[in-house]
Amino acid sequence: MELLKKRIIEEGIVLSDKVLKLDGLLNHQVDPQLTMEMGREFAARFRESGVTRVVTVESSGIAVAFATAYELGVPLVFARRKKTLLADPDAYCERVPSFTKGIVTDIMLSREYMKSEDRVLFIDDIIANGDAAKGLIKIIARSGAELVGLGVVIEKAFQSGAQTIREQGIRIESLVKIGSLTDGKIKFVE
Ligand code: 5GP
Repeated sequence: MELLKKRIIEEGIVLSDKVLKLDGLLNHQVDPQLTMEMGREFAARFRESGVTRVVTVESSGIAVAFATAYELGVPLVFARRKKTLLADPDAYCERVPSFTKGIVTDIMLSREYMKSEDRVLFIDDIIANGDAAKGLIKIIARSGAELVGLGVVIEKAFQSGAQTIREQGIRIESLVKIGSLTDGKIKFVE
């Protein structure tokens, strides 16, 4: 998505050869026009998949997931991150490491909002090692719902997350792929 690449070049800050700060458009501030454009793009790519629910993990994926769900005319449900996890019989839970925070968090999704008859589109902001995504994929599998695919705003292709998820046979559509962040430069995969 060329518009998104342009914005990443203008506003992204390379913090290290692994981390790109994108607070201006994804992780702190949201540009509604750009976000709706991203939603339209994901909706177009998955329109034939019979999606009944869009799902994401809080918090940075919510805006794009909302835009996608709006375009597809289906509900959005976001898995919540919990600090402590008391066993909840009404929820699916997974423990996942956090790439940027260096801690583990528990993600939780109520059984009420994920049914076995659902066809689910999972939207995520950035995929690095894929731990957060794999956690939610496990929850979707446990619910019996069908995962039609994963839409990722930014795939960091030099980290293994997306590749290992594709190897599970899951369709991933990334709006932008980053091949490297070395020497403070953002290199895209064409
Ligand atoms: P993963 O579980 O795939 O290793 O990391 C996924 C989460 O970590 C993303 O949803 C995102 O919030 C955060 N993350 C991973 N890499 C980056 C990065 O380079 N920049 C930013 N801003 N967030 C990142």
